[in-house]
Amino acid sequence: ETITVGELAKRMGVKANDLIRVLMKMGLMATINHPLDVDTATLLATEFGYEIENVAVDLDEMMETTPDAPESLVKRSPVVTIMGHVDHGKTSLLDAIREANVIAGEAGGITQHIGAYDVELNGRKITFLDTPGHEAFTAMRARGAKVTDIVILVVAADDGVMPQTREAINHSKAAGVPIIVAINKIDKPEAKPERVKQELTEHGLVSEEWGGDTTMVEVSAKKRLNLEELLEMVLLQADVMDLKANPDKEARGTIVEAKLDKGRGPVATVLVQEGTLKLGDYCVVGIHSGRVRAMQNDRGDKVVEAGPAMPVEVIGLSGVPDAGDIFVAMKDEKQAKEIATLRQIKQREVELAKHSKLSLEQLYEKIQKGEVKDLNVIVKGDVQGSVEAVGESLRKLSTDAVRLNVLHSAVGAVTETDVNLATASNAIIIGFNVRPEVKAQGLAEKEGVDIRLYNVIYDAVEDVKKAMEGLLEPTL
Ligand code: GDP
Repeated sequence: ETITVGELAKRMGVKANDLIRVLMKMGLMATINHPLDVDTATLLATEFGYEIENVAVDLDEMMETTPDAPESLVKRSPVVTIMGHVDHGKTSLLDAIREANVIAGEAGGITQHIGAYDVELNGRKITFLDTPGHEAFTAMRARGAKVTDIVILVVAADDGVMPQTREAINHSKAAGVPIIVAINKIDKPEAKPERVKQELTEHGLVSEEWGGDTTMVEVSAKKRLNLEELLEMVLLQADVMDLKANPDKEARGTIVEAKLDKGRGPVATVLVQEGTLKLGDYCVVGIHSGRVRAMQNDRGDKVVEAGPAMPVEVIGLSGVPDAGDIFVAMKDEKQAKEIATLRQIKQREVELAKHSKLSLEQLYEKIQKGEVKDLNVIVKGDVQGSVEAVGESLRKLSTDAVRLNVLHSAVGAVTETDVNLATASNAIIIGFNVRPEVKAQGLAEKEGVDIRLYNVIYDAVEDVKKAMEGLLEPTL
């Protein structure tokens, strides 16, 4: 992948001559048409530190879409993620829904695991992401991707609300995604669905039959009970949300899964979110570009196009993207390559300037500038009592200017999932008598997430209070 001196100068908003002068200092005699590899281009961009912003601006302009005219919007299918505590039946439910549908629908269909699939009910489709759990969901969100319209929260009727149930609820709420509860394993003699509903009320999910607004369906993944009812409720929720997209334009979507295949090269599953992806389209995905050489659906059928809410496996990318990367189709091959190259430059720049996320030290400054109106906090602690006490005391710090939200609080060490939630929601993490896991610490450093550790509740509360008042002494 290369870019010429002239092009780079234009994108960076500097004079080509200035670039050439710097290149000369680096010992490279170049003309305006001289091709630069990514490393050299990056070096140059770094050299011009302050101009790098222009690359970002230019990029955003190139990627901008004009808003869709209301009459161009067409109803689209909902995209669903299944979450819940381990062993409550997420995988079983995903499999049961899919198998029931394959049997009912097309006989003999061989299903492929491509990271997402769709099922049909009464002539309407529902797309399921088949990596269950809030970890994947929030990791994607931390990358800026928003794919899930509706969360199905699975709670085992013989076990009730457990730690990961609470996490799933908090992560869904932080993302503003509506929840439908599937009370699973009702075939078991020890099932107590009423008790589950009772427990869920304590977490703000009140069943419709009890006068609340959360849909709850009692199901059995194992015995295939009430699956159709559950799907009907998903469609009903989708109707309420009035999900729409414009299918008549170049496609945009999100990568839900990607891998390197020995024979086929990079293979990525794109969930198309708007427009229609067609065979032969050029595209940019994260820092990669490419051309759609082949597409297949979750049944292994070759397809020539994919519209909104449809997952397809795509072959023809220059590299393996990450789950959560945004996919953009475009007509122009040169433009696609150029954007990918610029993204590579920008990625390195971002890695250089890591601490862009909110830290407690920067809080006051941001409050003053009016950039922060909500301070989001995640609290982890050694025992339930202290977690609750810290959360309660922090909430009381809310002022007219800044509202303090405890997005999630739980017993246990600070995990990677906590850091991803913090990244996605621009939150700080407070650990009380706990430490971050090694991987979580690494991720926090990479993402610039502020993790603060305390042994005394008063200190934690005092620090946040001081930060909000601009009195915090830097700890570094
Ligand atoms: P996950 O960890 O949430 O993905 O849970 P799994 O789908 O792996 O299920 C955990 C266990 O519960 C497995 O042994 C399943 O066979 C069992 N299971 C799942 N759904 C049901 C159900 O509806 N009824 C009963 N009796 N067992 C179930």
